[in-house]
Amino acid sequence: MHILDRFRDPELGRALLEKVIALADRARDKLGRPPVFMEVCGTHTVAISKAGLRSLLEEKLKLRSGPGCPVCVTDYGDIDAMVAFGRLPGVTVGTFGDMVRVPGSRTSLEREKARGADVRVFYSPADAVKWAKENPERQMVFLGVGFETTAPAVALSVAQAKALGLKNYSVFTVHKVVPPALAALGSDPEMKLDGLILPGHVSAIIGRRAYDFIAEEYGLPSVITGFETLDIVDALYNLLQQLISDDPPRVVNGYTRVVREEGNVRAQETLDRFFQIADVSWRGFGTIPGSGMELKPEYREFDARARFAPEVAAPRIPQGCRCGDLLKGKLTPRDCRLFATACTPSHPVGPCMVSSEGACAAFYQYERRT
Ligand code: SF4
Repeated sequence: MHILDRFRDPELGRALLEKVIALADRARDKLGRPPVFMEVCGTHTVAISKAGLRSLLEEKLKLRSGPGCPVCVTDYGDIDAMVAFGRLPGVTVGTFGDMVRVPGSRTSLEREKARGADVRVFYSPADAVKWAKENPERQMVFLGVGFETTAPAVALSVAQAKALGLKNYSVFTVHKVVPPALAALGSDPEMKLDGLILPGHVSAIIGRRAYDFIAEEYGLPSVITGFETLDIVDALYNLLQQLISDDPPRVVNGYTRVVREEGNVRAQETLDRFFQIADVSWRGFGTIPGSGMELKPEYREFDARARFAPEVAAPRIPQGCRCGDLLKGKLTPRDCRLFATACTPSHPVGPCMVSSEGACAAFYQYERRT
């Protein structure tokens, strides 16, 4: 039996779901309304939609998607800056696949590519370094998008470029760290959340204890969990248990097969070596203090901002897209009047419809009602 098979056992799943439904009734009686939980991570959003859990449980509890899709939270101004790099003569922009189609204020990298910009998709930053080495006549600007999970690979690409003595490799980092965004959610008086499902991958890097403040300062029960359906149902069961209990809320590690108390110390050391914490803007949130990672001054020669400083016009926010509110858990994709009408995967208006981890794309694929 494969280790994951027991997380996919339908009998176990049904039994646990019945327990969740029973506990959700008790939680609703206690709160006077159905409990509202947020899955912070985009991969969880997709897993929940794919398993049909949101629709299945919607009479009993509400599941809201959060700010854990890195492409989705990249703000308009940052996408406009990526476009500006692509318009510079002699510059090739390298990025992960999803970023290419994300609309900025006026255009996207995909449209810029159609107009002649050199935009290339790489599976890893190391491939972008290799490309830079093989094409010394071009400047490679790699777009560093993502959370604590992808930033170490970008940091190592800088180390690799330095070791190779490359003068034509730099990174435009819009990397973000997750805990400050959770603090922003927890301190928002408009938020009516009763618990959080915390990301599995990010937690593998930063560790369980990095989240203790969520329970201590904001009183939110929280569970780190994996991506199998039973992982998620088990997390819901744990959140509901915490909600109906009179004990203080806790941050529970339900993903012990991957996540440690202290996280991945080597990855954390890599991040500390290359990055310093910065105040950065998140779509829907605005600037969140201490929520970004920028290259340390000693790596300035690899910082695309410092090397090129392209001119970027003030962002223009497209009308109608509700991605910002969606990323704060205030609504679901179905509450956006553009969903599945003006905004579809083939004609996305916002990043939440573009990204493979975006809530709108997940709803469109798995939860669309015709
Ligand atoms: Fe934005 Fe489209 Fe989602 Fe509406 S459906 S919030 S326009 S991405």
